[in-house]
Amino acid sequence: MEETKSSTTGTSTGSGAQALTIAVSLAAAAGVGYLVYRNGETWLRSLLLYLSRMKLARQVVTRFPPAWAVANRFIAGESVDEAIAVARQLNAKGMTVALDYLGESVSDAGEAAAARDQILYLLQQIHAGGVDAYVSVKLSQLGLKVDENLALANLRTLLTEAQKRGLRIRIDMEESALVDTTLDLYRRLRFGEGFDNVGVVIQSYLYRSEEDVRRLAAEGAWVRLVKGAYKEPPTVAYPQKTHVDAAFVRLAELLLSDEARQHGAHLAAATHDDTMIAAVQRYAAAHHLPKDAFEFQMLYGIRRERQEQLVAQGYRVRIYVPYGTAWYPYFMRRLAERPANLWFFVSNFFKA
Ligand SMILES: Cc1cc2nc3c(=O)[nH]c(=O)nc-3n(C[C@H](O)[C@H](O)[C@H](O)COP(=O)(O)OP(=O)(O)OC[C@H]3O[C@@H](n4cnc5c(N)ncnc54)[C@H](O)[C@@H]3O)c2cc1C
Repeated sequence: MEETKSSTTGTSTGSGAQALTIAVSLAAAAGVGYLVYRNGETWLRSLLLYLSRMKLARQVVTRFPPAWAVANRFIAGESVDEAIAVARQLNAKGMTVALDYLGESVSDAGEAAAARDQILYLLQQIHAGGVDAYVSVKLSQLGLKVDENLALANLRTLLTEAQKRGLRIRIDMEESALVDTTLDLYRRLRFGEGFDNVGVVIQSYLYRSEEDVRRLAAEGAWVRLVKGAYKEPPTVAYPQKTHVDAAFVRLAELLLSDEARQHGAHLAAATHDDTMIAAVQRYAAAHHLPKDAFEFQMLYGIRRERQEQLVAQGYRVRIYVPYGTAWYPYFMRRLAERPANLWFFVSNFFKA
């Protein structure tokens, strides 16, 4: 499943082929620019999310060193050592870390086992390096789309190793079609098998999330709340940002309520949005919650000054740090969230 280092940094294309690909890419960039001018940013977001799933687009983007130069702002590196080094730097700034070995859907049990083994090694390195970090995983990376029981077995292996080393694992949330199974596997491991070192993610853009949060709060779950990063139809998700934002605040307040905290629930408010951050701070202050009753989470490379400011104000801040060779879909989702980053990317193309 994972690409090799050379395939992601593009060292082997001939100069003729490279010139042609550059020309095609620049023409595509110009075309995209024109279409955005005509159709607006929402359309561009949809296009970027669509391209994040396309193999051909991945081959074009990942073949260029300039692409990595931009992606590197959001991704710690391609190796575990680089990820641990970044985690250590963030710890020194007073932030904890969630490490993510990049990779999404795998197509067979062998690929899922390879991803599991990479994450086992990561857990060992976190422990050996003494960094303050937990691990985030995607169930599709552990084989969920091949066989649910395969993903369950792989996650069980990881949780057992993490538990042995006093570490925790958070299950990232992927597209809406996987939410039921993800929560089901979480509950089987958390309650059926007694793993208390596992947490989940809830996306405020889904209509179903309020019901999910009410149940998770009553179960004392450890929940990362996000707005949601996938392209979802209006049948399952709020199409308008104002509704997604309002839901985020509602769900954060549910998870911060006395009742939820008495059950042992814990909120990680994962957002770069000042309005969401302020809403959580306001609720916490109004209810006299200590600053360590919840945490803020942000992505590596996004709003670094804001991250430091929150730490200086006494809040707990955890940074999500991805690493690995399979960085393309993650990178495209970050571009989709903030198309301004795309212009940075295109200008790097010209500089290179
Ligand atoms: C720690 C963490 C873990 C996550 N895990 C998941 C997950 O498991 N599943 C999932 O679906 N989604 C996940 N996400 C992504 C999330 O769903 C959103 O897509 C993402 O956080 C953007 O939403 P926002 O809350 O920052 O608000 P937005 O409304 O998107 O952005 C608010 C402001 O933040 C800044 N900003 C946001 N994104 C960027 C960017 N890429 N570059 C520069 N500035 C930016 C801008 O100033 C923007 O105006 C995660 C996010 C974080 C922070």
